[in-house]
Amino acid sequence: MSDFSTSLNEVSNEAALKELESEYLGKKGKLKAILAGVKDLSIEDKKTIGVKANEMKKQFITDLEKKAVEIEIAVFAQIEADEAIDVTVWYPSENLGHKHPISHASELLEDIFISLGFKIEDGPQVESEEFAFDKLNIPADHPARDVWDTFWISDDINKDKDIWDRLLLRPHTSPVQIRTMLKGELPVKIIAPGRVFRYEQEDARHTCNFYQLEGLVVGEGVTFGDLKWTLDTVMKQLLWEKTQLRFRPSIFPFTEPSAEVDVSCQICSGTGEVKWKKCSMCSATGWVELLWAGMVHPNVLEWCGIDHKKYSGFAFGMWIDRIAAQRFGVSSSRMFYQNKLKLNEQF
Ligand SMILES: [Zn+2]
Repeated sequence: MSDFSTSLNEVSNEAALKELESEYLGKKGKLKAILAGVKDLSIEDKKTIGVKANEMKKQFITDLEKKAVEIEIAVFAQIEADEAIDVTVWYPSENLGHKHPISHASELLEDIFISLGFKIEDGPQVESEEFAFDKLNIPADHPARDVWDTFWISDDINKDKDIWDRLLLRPHTSPVQIRTMLKGELPVKIIAPGRVFRYEQEDARHTCNFYQLEGLVVGEGVTFGDLKWTLDTVMKQLLWEKTQLRFRPSIFPFTEPSAEVDVSCQICSGTGEVKWKKCSMCSATGWVELLWAGMVHPNVLEWCGIDHKKYSGFAFGMWIDRIAAQRFGVSSSRMFYQNKLKLNEQF
């Protein structure tokens, strides 16, 4: 017994433990030999030695199991020590990058709208013609389609489809509003930020791919006053508290009445001048066109299964790129797409 205990104390790994187990409890082990000899003993000796031998066997097994657990714990402790990572070690952090100004502006807007009780909705960038145009009161022969002309999915895919089912890259995030209304859950209070595409001649304010944020509120008794309050509150929070909004009458197929919404220029504080020179951001007008808005057209509500006599709603949209330019004082929103590190690193 004491031999066994001494040997067990010296064991430090699994292989040695197996060897010891075999030495004592194996087919040709020491204990096996004792137990085998028991049958030749007198009845008296059988009782004492036999019982003793069996007790020893149980004790050996218990001790071996305990040692196995100790070895396992020691192995894992060693792995932990070998693979430890010092998170406080200094590592050069240059060029790790950060959020793009457009993402940053989008998240600022999302936070403001969420604080006003809006939910965020998302939708596919490849849309059907029906959701991108027809359901928004823009049928195939409507002149407004020219404004939103976009990139169509290849003829190979579209050639066998019905006219409403043809696929295109979405020219606005408005299809998300249609999808939300079709769910049939009222009231609706959502924003839909996302990427959109248009066939555009590129200049300082136009790119063929840009980011929009559109919003939609539908419920009982929703008015144009609610729309004005919402946009005024959001722009004051996003830009600064003295920001002014100017609504100009406009025409959109999906809203009636409709308005273009200008915001007082942040660069010249609406004065049109910066250091006694004309402000280039707003062409010295003091206003920058950032949003469009209006009351949802009854046709659009009806086609989405909403009773326009009982419910009304407003919708609005904004160019996140242009808002980012205003928020961060950048003179052209196109610069955000030119991968200029010197520009992006400033935010
Ligand atoms: Zn200005």
